Amino acid sequence: MTLTSLAQATYVVAAVLFVLSLAGLSKQETARRGNILGMIGMGLALAATVVLSLDRSERPVMVTALLIAMVFAIGASIGIWRARTVEMTQMPELIAMLHSFVGLAAVLVGFNSYLTEEADAVHQIEVFLGVFIGAVTFTGSIIAYLKLSARIKSNPLTLPGRNLLNLGAIVVSLGLMGWFIASNSVLPLALMTVIALALGLHLVAAIGGGDMPVVVSMLNSYSGWAAAAAGLMLSNDLLIVTGALVGSSGAILSYLMCKAMNRAFISVILGGFGTGGGAAAVDGPQGEHREVQAPEVAEMLAAARSVVIVPGYGMAVAKAQYPVADLVSKLRSAGVEVRFGVHPVAGRLPGHMNVLLAEARVPYDIVLEMDEINDDFPETDVVLVIGANDVVNPSALEDPGSPLAGMPVLEVWKARQCIVFKRSMATGYAGVQNPLFFKENSAMLFGDAKTKVEEILTSLRVGEGANA
Ligand code: NDP
Repeated sequence: MTLTSLAQATYVVAAVLFVLSLAGLSKQETARRGNILGMIGMGLALAATVVLSLDRSERPVMVTALLIAMVFAIGASIGIWRARTVEMTQMPELIAMLHSFVGLAAVLVGFNSYLTEEADAVHQIEVFLGVFIGAVTFTGSIIAYLKLSARIKSNPLTLPGRNLLNLGAIVVSLGLMGWFIASNSVLPLALMTVIALALGLHLVAAIGGGDMPVVVSMLNSYSGWAAAAAGLMLSNDLLIVTGALVGSSGAILSYLMCKAMNRAFISVILGGFGTGGGAAAVDGPQGEHREVQAPEVAEMLAAARSVVIVPGYGMAVAKAQYPVADLVSKLRSAGVEVRFGVHPVAGRLPGHMNVLLAEARVPYDIVLEMDEINDDFPETDVVLVIGANDVVNPSALEDPGSPLAGMPVLEVWKARQCIVFKRSMATGYAGVQNPLFFKENSAMLFGDAKTKVEEILTSLRVGEGANA
């Protein structure tokens, strides 16, 4: 068996491991195993790629080995440093940044492939599409990074005729593809690259804050297709398979996100939707709000039979999941029914809240999805909204002019009492005022969520008939 065929066989094993990894990641109970399988697959893939590169090297093998070792050392050091220093709350922006690298890599591979390989129509189409998808992914992900890290406002950019602009960019790019195939000149390729870079920028800039989750999963999908295109250009089967896996699973995730947010899939691909062309509203207060202190909340909890906790991005910021888990186990051991209601877009990443709760060892079976818990709020004594805002905003259901209009939300106001943990009356990510704060059965518990949950834990006296 030659080294090349051994490497190809390893690629097949790695591809199977990636499929098994994705299958494992689809459930919380098997996610850890899925991650391990993915890591083994990636390790094998890297080893096989090094072997292939050395086997096919046109330079002296030692020079290629040294080059690979240098790139490995630089990449691994940056990766280890970032992985060790990144805060959980910075993960979404880090992922957006990583997507932009995949996009840029596809653009560079495309130009390299154009400059070094024989021109035939199939290869030219591969190059053209690879560069196009890569360029859109590159700038789109940079804008997503800037929005997710709050370096630029999350309000949508609403240029006049924005849909026509997007459509025009695609039509002109198709024309340029015809010119490129006919002439094999660099000019149409370069022109398309500029247009695609602008298109990526515009597509994501046009999306409002509340609709960003779909964009994040969409860019995930684009980065997969960009990698698959790079795989075609490099004739690397594993990159094609891996790219297609990421591309299609990202597309399925985007579809699920669209469904969860009640948005049309096609409008996301075209960029800009849901806001009706207006900027996100930042209204003033909508009435009087009531404040409570931690000891009062502790009393309410001690008297409650059923409690639902709705976590949001603020729980991640405050790292409140650990005291929340302690509060849950204290209440449960006193016989109080405690469950979590998790909105599909709570936090800043798909599954963000589930990861935090799993990290704090909250049992999986009490963590319910929005559809599983929404009907139970009228029978709930106390809801604790911990650092969530947009995902519990009634204006999504009640105000057709709201940027959140149409998005299903957790209907926490239907419970007997609803306590909102946050630091101020500020709006959430979508920049929309929340009428929940002014409802009669709502009360605000101001302060850092972690500190407040700890204060509740200190005051909480349960058991010994406290709950009778
Ligand atoms: P929001 O961003 O709507 O609200 C979070 C709230 O947490 C804020 O109002 C903030 O209020 C409060 N908060 C922040 N820090 C603390 C703290 N230390 N202690 C207590 N409270 C704190 O979050 P949601 O989870 O409700 O909604 C998610 C939003 O993010 C949606 O708009 C969604 O579309 C968007 N998004 C989601 C993505 C995903 O994939 N899940 C990806 C991209 C965007 P205050 O400042 O007053 O404390």
